[in-house]
Amino acid sequence: MTLRIHNHFKGTKEEFQPLDPKRVTMYVCGMTVQGPPHMGHMLAFVSADMVRRSLEYLGYNVFHIQNFTDIDDKIIVKANEAGCTATEMAEKNIEAFFSAADALGIQRAHMYPKVTEHIPEIVEYIEGLIAKEHAYAAEGNVWFDVRSYGPYGELSGRKIDDLQTAVRVELEESKRDPLDFALWKSAKPGEPAWDSPWGPGRPGWHIECSVMSTKYLGPTFDLHGGGRDLLFPHHENELAQSKATEGEFVRYWMHNGLLNLDGQKMAKSMDHFFLVEDVLAKYPADVVRFYLMRGHFRNNMEYSWERLDEAAAAYDRMRRALVKLEELVADGSLGADVPDGVTSEAGVALEESVAKARAGFREALEDDFNSEAAIAALFELVRVANPYLVASPSAGDLDAEPVRATLAVLREGLGALAVFEGVGQVSVPPEILEMARRRDEARTEKNWAQADALRDEMVARGFSVEDSSEGTKVRPA
Ligand SMILES: [Zn+2]
Repeated sequence: MTLRIHNHFKGTKEEFQPLDPKRVTMYVCGMTVQGPPHMGHMLAFVSADMVRRSLEYLGYNVFHIQNFTDIDDKIIVKANEAGCTATEMAEKNIEAFFSAADALGIQRAHMYPKVTEHIPEIVEYIEGLIAKEHAYAAEGNVWFDVRSYGPYGELSGRKIDDLQTAVRVELEESKRDPLDFALWKSAKPGEPAWDSPWGPGRPGWHIECSVMSTKYLGPTFDLHGGGRDLLFPHHENELAQSKATEGEFVRYWMHNGLLNLDGQKMAKSMDHFFLVEDVLAKYPADVVRFYLMRGHFRNNMEYSWERLDEAAAAYDRMRRALVKLEELVADGSLGADVPDGVTSEAGVALEESVAKARAGFREALEDDFNSEAAIAALFELVRVANPYLVASPSAGDLDAEPVRATLAVLREGLGALAVFEGVGQVSVPPEILEMARRRDEARTEKNWAQADALRDEMVARGFSVEDSSEGTKVRPA
């Protein structure tokens, strides 16, 4: 099977064909850093991380960019309330973002461009839109002329004339049409401002993503991600600006579902949210990450403590299976009392489940990054394995191969999603550590024969042996 992605632009699932088969380009709309991240933000970024890691698992190289909106009305208001500058407010919340993202195991993007570091590029981009008559300046502002771009509404499926009647007519007298949106806003007194051909001001929100994504990824790139709440107007406007400038812009638009609280989107502006730091004070970060990946990323998710408890209970089932499997695999007597190969009926059944889980996991990720089904495939394997593992009085009675394969498939799948890492790792017994210490002595004495003999002995007992700057490192193989 090949990877298929639900492309929001087409409204259907289609085979993924990146522009460059060796390097997938991916842009994700990042945070407006007016405050520390809440759980709704992190659902979006854990989803994007799951997508990137799935691509990497499936053999793609990914170049991933995520922006920070570090200047904005809300940041200015928050900074004024706190008595600091907008830059200080933004920097503080960028730090809070990284601390939450690191805790949740989110792989860092390759670049995190900021608006305030791209003002000259943004001004130049706006000048280009004016030159092409897709934008006009009026009273220190610059507006995108929505009616100049025929396909406007093509991403969200909205029609200009329907929008016209629905839109709240803003009291912006310099606009030609209420639907026109700001590319550049003139500065009010006391606000941070940058010089421009239209007077001091700052960029509107949407323009930054067009400028920064295409600057680093080119006029057409593969994947654009973000929350479903960004579809309109943010992504519609990004698309209009970018296509009016150059290129196809985005080949596959992907939107993650939103995190709801009591049926309503979790949102900072409504004071309707849980901060990540408060949730991490109650649950281990790995459980929270697991919880956020348990549904299909395109679906909305209901946040509640009960759901988190359910996720924690499921997490514990997997954790216990991993611990048991690690113990068995580290046990030198695994399979010692039964003939080689898979002989028992239960062993054969487990072997079949292993193959099914391996294929099911991959197919689920290839089907629009369905982490829900991928995780379910691993849990199904645990369900089959558990009775077999606990029914035998000793490790010697089990068929070694399917037990090792069960652990390998679980580790591979969970490792691809970056959960349960380190869970259930069996510690190295003292006699093996003693052998490692003696091997280091032998190496210091340049007694290579002795060092090699000790290494062989540890490997024979089921450990992997590595040389490091601190000496011999041993762990269960
Ligand atoms: Zn954006």
